Amino acid sequence: MPRDTVTGVTDEVAEARAAAEARALNERFAGATAQEVLRHALTDPAMGRIATVSSFGAESVVLLHMISQIDRAAPVLFIDTQMLFEETLQYQTDVAEQLGLTGIEVVRAPAPELAKADPDDTLHKRSTDACCDLRKTVPLANALLAYDGWVTGRKRFQAEARAALDYFESEGPRVKVNPLAGWSATDLKAYMDEHDLPRHPLVAKGYPSIGCWPCTTPVKEGEDPRAGRWRGEEKEECGIHFIDGKVVRGPLPVSEPASDPVAEAAPERKSA
Ligand code: SF4
Repeated sequence: MPRDTVTGVTDEVAEARAAAEARALNERFAGATAQEVLRHALTDPAMGRIATVSSFGAESVVLLHMISQIDRAAPVLFIDTQMLFEETLQYQTDVAEQLGLTGIEVVRAPAPELAKADPDDTLHKRSTDACCDLRKTVPLANALLAYDGWVTGRKRFQAEARAALDYFESEGPRVKVNPLAGWSATDLKAYMDEHDLPRHPLVAKGYPSIGCWPCTTPVKEGEDPRAGRWRGEEKEECGIHFIDGKVVRGPLPVSEPASDPVAEAAPERKSA
């Protein structure tokens, strides 16, 4: 039975504790606002070390603005798959500066692993699951080793698979917090308008959900907002998130974290 060598707690015990904690928090925060849930996650010492994971996508600025109202130095993990649109990279820099966020950590796959598994940046054409594992799931899993829990910007309305999303979930030994779970697209727009927040430039070009450039297409009127992600494939999630306690598909084994992922070389980028 795997055991944490520092605490002596087994994986099974840690997972059961996280599940019980998530259940208790959902009861306690039933009827609470997104801001109340987020404030608890970021400031209550009982939550431990908490990071927010943000794609700096179409709606990310809402959660990022709420964070800036609570703690501008709170850790925000930005996964740079090195296949992102130029517009996303510029937007990330602009939003962080405008909101005064000082805790941004850029997470990337280590260059040697990319060179070995995807030397010509075409893995996404052969296997989007393997590419997402290499560029997103495993780097995030490694980055999260330093944290006790994480905050996401997921909402129920985004996809059928997210229809039962709660404020708090457990994922392995960690609690995952979804402050915007119950927000609608109208709520998000109203918040952005009220606070005059900068919009991702690709939204105006027909991208209501924005991922990597090879796997994101514009969405037509009336389509699901995430219909442009991995269009033509059954894939709905990149593997970062789990459903009913199980990952959507199996990730690659977690490898040793890069000593300084921000320092890894960045390849060519594309604009929409
Ligand atoms: Fe690779 Fe596409 Fe996944 Fe990005 S979204 S990591 S390009 S498969």
